[in-house]
Amino acid sequence: MNTTPDALIIGSGIIGTALAFEMAKKGYHTLNIDKLPASGYGSTSNSCAIIRFSYSTWEGVAMAYEGLHFWKDWEAYLEVKDPRGMALFHQTGILMMKDRGPHFEKVLKLYKELGVPYEVWNQQQILEVAPFLNFKSYWPVRRPDDPLFDQISDDTITTALWNPDGGYINDPQLSTHNLQVAAEAKGSQFIFDQKVIQILQANGSVTGVELEGGSRINAPIVINVAGPHSNIINQMAGVTSDMNVKTRALRHEVHHVPSPPDFNFGEKGKIMSDSDIGCYYRPSQGNSILIGSEDPECDRKEWIDDPDDYNRDVTDAQWHAQVLRLAKRIENLGIPNRNRGVVDLYDVADDWIPIYDRSDLNGFYMAIGTSGNQFKNAPIAAYLMTELIHACENGTNHDADPVQIKAPYTGKLLNSGFYSRKREINTNSSFSVKG
Ligand SMILES: Cc1cc2nc3c(=O)[nH]c(=O)nc-3n(C[C@H](O)[C@H](O)[C@H](O)COP(=O)(O)OP(=O)(O)OC[C@H]3O[C@@H](n4cnc5c(N)ncnc54)[C@H](O)[C@@H]3O)c2cc1C
Repeated sequence: MNTTPDALIIGSGIIGTALAFEMAKKGYHTLNIDKLPASGYGSTSNSCAIIRFSYSTWEGVAMAYEGLHFWKDWEAYLEVKDPRGMALFHQTGILMMKDRGPHFEKVLKLYKELGVPYEVWNQQQILEVAPFLNFKSYWPVRRPDDPLFDQISDDTITTALWNPDGGYINDPQLSTHNLQVAAEAKGSQFIFDQKVIQILQANGSVTGVELEGGSRINAPIVINVAGPHSNIINQMAGVTSDMNVKTRALRHEVHHVPSPPDFNFGEKGKIMSDSDIGCYYRPSQGNSILIGSEDPECDRKEWIDDPDDYNRDVTDAQWHAQVLRLAKRIENLGIPNRNRGVVDLYDVADDWIPIYDRSDLNGFYMAIGTSGNQFKNAPIAAYLMTELIHACENGTNHDADPVQIKAPYTGKLLNSGFYSRKREINTNSSFSVKG
């Protein structure tokens, strides 16, 4: 191993490996350090890996729509073929049901402004792709132990926003490995089973890291891409005092149920976002449906102090909440006796918008706070971070004069200051996974 890389990247999830690839293309010799045995074994491994554009801010939509283009031509972007195989983008399209909340109108307006392709569908059009749906409204979202759980409201769902470009990546861990292989082909290095326990610094600048076991690696740039451990790494570096937005880990469950009879959702299903029942769902392997939460207000948030110590088992309470909510929309949904799903952590920023930024320790950067919604953005976020790091290392005062990035595919101008650690809490955010 070369012990004097240009940059150390703490974490080899989807964001850390994408950053290695983008920085390598810019000429940096990077070394990723991960405490787990392989890339993509952290929270990325349990990502639903949905690629959608329905964010509440101009920047959120612009980033996600730009991000699509990297996935659409994945092999060409990476310039390599991974011997393990390449992750696949299933372009199913996405239907977002119109509920009583403000999100639908916000997204529609932003799609128009940004030129994101969409159609507004009526019930008949919705039924053509999802014949198993009913259009009763159950607003507001409730928990099954609420006596009003089954109560139907006066509304019906009349409209959905169809976006033909959305989809999902079949294997988030493999996509991370693809990025690792692409980065290695450009000279990046990776070490695994190595835990960073200290950020080394002298005279206001970072100088490297110390690993468990005592060895030290020096570098003039260190980047925190530690996912749900991001706050621990920032505390180690002592950089939290000038941050107006901070991060913390949030436990989340995702569940699997079989398709309804007579409809192979695994093969024909679209991605569905349905805030009226507080869920999103998408096709999954073996003719099944994967159900995720849209963070309805009635669900207590499980903030986790120690991301190495939390309950990794699906709970009956959350299983019932999600599958019974979906059973309202799909009345002939079969619900298995035994729960099935995965549990992992989001790294949530105070306003559910990531922090892609420098810190007040020279040479120490962070790509964190991905808030359950940045898998799709990994390549474009890595591109933005690389430009930001490069500018800062060459004298730009990014805090005073934020770096502007021209998006390589759509040509939109992305203001990286939007992701500043010093920003005011963004009140346009949905304060949920919707971003
Ligand atoms: C259940 C779930 C569903 C999701 N669904 C979607 C979705 O549909 N669409 C979407 O766009 N996004 C989604 N996301 C969000 C997305 O998956 C994350 O934003 C993304 O995977 C975060 O990647 P990361 O590289 O930042 O973090 P991680 O993948 O967690 O990687 C961080 C790495 O840092 C390492 N690390 C931590 N501390 C140390 C240390 N001290 N020393 C060395 N290594 C360290 C860890 O081992 C880990 O491998 C979802 C997330 C979850 C949990």
